[in-house]
Amino acid sequence: MNEYAPYAVTDAASRGRVVAEPRPNARSEFQRDRDRIVHSAAFRRLEYKTQVFVNHEGDLFRTRLTHSIEVAQIARSIARALNLNDDLAEAVSLAHDLGHTPFGHAGQDALNECMQAYGGFEHNLQSLRIVQQLEQHYASFDGLNLMFETCEGILKHCSPARARMLGRLGERFLNEQQPSLEAQICNLADEIAYNNHDVDDGLRSGLIDLEQLKSVSLFCRHLAEVERKYPGITGRRQIHETIRRIIDAQVTDLLFESRRRIDHAAPKTVQEVFAAPALIAFSVTMQEENRALKTFLREQLYRHHHVVRMTTKAQRVIRELFTAFMAESRLLPPQYQEIAMVEGLARATADYIAGMTDRYAIKEHRRLFLVGED
Ligand code: MG
Repeated sequence: MNEYAPYAVTDAASRGRVVAEPRPNARSEFQRDRDRIVHSAAFRRLEYKTQVFVNHEGDLFRTRLTHSIEVAQIARSIARALNLNDDLAEAVSLAHDLGHTPFGHAGQDALNECMQAYGGFEHNLQSLRIVQQLEQHYASFDGLNLMFETCEGILKHCSPARARMLGRLGERFLNEQQPSLEAQICNLADEIAYNNHDVDDGLRSGLIDLEQLKSVSLFCRHLAEVERKYPGITGRRQIHETIRRIIDAQVTDLLFESRRRIDHAAPKTVQEVFAAPALIAFSVTMQEENRALKTFLREQLYRHHHVVRMTTKAQRVIRELFTAFMAESRLLPPQYQEIAMVEGLARATADYIAGMTDRYAIKEHRRLFLVGED
């Protein structure tokens, strides 16, 4: 096992599981968490959930599953380089998007609108709901009974009102404290992963091109370096060589800045990390470069008319599904009717819809609205 820094989360320093369990034999507690996440149904569904492009648009685009695996790879490398708990970083990364609806952010926005009168819908909270309650295949508890720090890492943000309802997990939002360094790493690893793979998928789809990307300094600089080193390089090799350099530059920058901040704050325990300002961070220069890249992606890719046409259609599917189940609860599968009896029809409907993959949602919509389909 790695020699962890004194401010890393460890099995011994953890706040543990809600339901006490015997220690695992051949794994750490956080390795067990990672394994439980990988064996969950919600994790398998990520394979058919949209990142940016709807799953049926092409086999080579990222899905939530491949996105989560890329986040885990980056987070693990960073955690290891900083002598932090890489198993915790991996577990949080693999679970961070479990609560996403079908059809990416468009799906979440549509479901959130439908849920306005019933407490809203937020994918972070839904991820938590999945690992604490909705996964039901263990004999002694609902959910996956994960370690406190894994749950804390999954719950990235949270309103004060919501935090008050979450008990121990919500405390840090009310006390304005940071989560573990491992959770902070996952946040930024997520950002590194999606910024880069969205550039890659955007280029692959033909919705953006290299000429446009030259207006983004981070991309332009690394592209120029690739062209200098490999004159005449084109196509996939040119793109991949550029993107791998950007990922490396971002990770290197993050390690440098985080080490600087950790040295300065000199935390001696995990508790001192919670009380300190954010210690995992990019330099100011890299923050600005990332912002420019994000702005480019928002304007040129996420708001591209092809993406908007697709997401508008997807939102209609979500809204119509929601309305149909709210009008007739017996359309819901029995396990969701049970949730409806305890937590109300709207929450049960949101759970059911959020759990759908893209293609399942489309199929279910067809089954509900087309006579002759079953
Ligand atoms: Mg993500």
